[in-house]
Amino acid sequence: MRQKNLRIIDNISDLKKEIEKLQGSIGLVPTMGALHLGHQSLIEKSVQQNDNTVVSIFVNPIQFGINEDLDKYPRKLEKDCELCKQQGVDIVFAPRIEEMYKSDKNNITLICPPVNAVDKLCGKSRPGHFDGVCTVVAKLFNLTKANKAYFGQKDAQQLFIIQKMVKDLDFNIEIVPCPIVREQDGLALSSRNQYLSKNDRILALNIQKALKTAISLAKKGINDKRTILDSCLEILSDLDVDYIEFVDKNTFETVDLIDKNTLLLIAAKTPQTKTRLIDNSLLH
Ligand code: AMP
Repeated sequence: MRQKNLRIIDNISDLKKEIEKLQGSIGLVPTMGALHLGHQSLIEKSVQQNDNTVVSIFVNPIQFGINEDLDKYPRKLEKDCELCKQQGVDIVFAPRIEEMYKSDKNNITLICPPVNAVDKLCGKSRPGHFDGVCTVVAKLFNLTKANKAYFGQKDAQQLFIIQKMVKDLDFNIEIVPCPIVREQDGLALSSRNQYLSKNDRILALNIQKALKTAISLAKKGINDKRTILDSCLEILSDLDVDYIEFVDKNTFETVDLIDKNTLLLIAAKTPQTKTRLIDNSLLH
């Protein structure tokens, strides 16, 4: 593995200076930290594909709702920087809130995706969430001047919305989608998994079980949404299901008939720690 001289930067002015000094292509991996193997897979891809890699670590307050987990979200900067160093990252950008939102985080220009992209799935459950995501991501694109940016397919709606933003607003950047990384037993890796109690951890596996069942039904030729939905809901009965939706992977429009483009997305909360988990899979 290529070790480089990692620079850890916490302010915009130093970041701009360091970015000016870089030669060659720049890959950006935006994260909220508490890095795990899912994040690491994005970082590895960026390091492979670019001369320089910037990892941002910022728990972005404007993408959290008032009753969400902003305060307790895990923060592990030192450990995260160690991982970035091992992976050959050039710059970790870890600003404080006041640095990113200099005036007042409640009084800034927002980038708002169109209603039909956010009136479903996580956008519906978390009003304003994607305004916060798009705004911080746009700032990071501008600040890092990255040629490519890496996003996980675990946050499928986020990936779709960012790709749309880049296209609609002519950002000069390539978005690289990265596959979901899972634990050995199938649970999608997430910084929030550390909230799970022992019992929640067992029940969390039902999300993956439901996705697998849906895939096997679709592969048997069942294309009726209701039948697949009923099987999934039975498997998810011990969880508090936030949504379970079938969409076309290219448009994110909801569909009634399952075909090769159908993406099944699930969000559910665990009973004890109320941890909100998301996962998704193509059905063919
Ligand atoms: P987060 O720190 O949760 O905001 O995630 C930062 C980036 O890592 C996002 O693009 C996520 O989609 C991606 N990511 C998070 N978990 C995973 C995972 N298990 N597999 C692949 N990518 C992931």
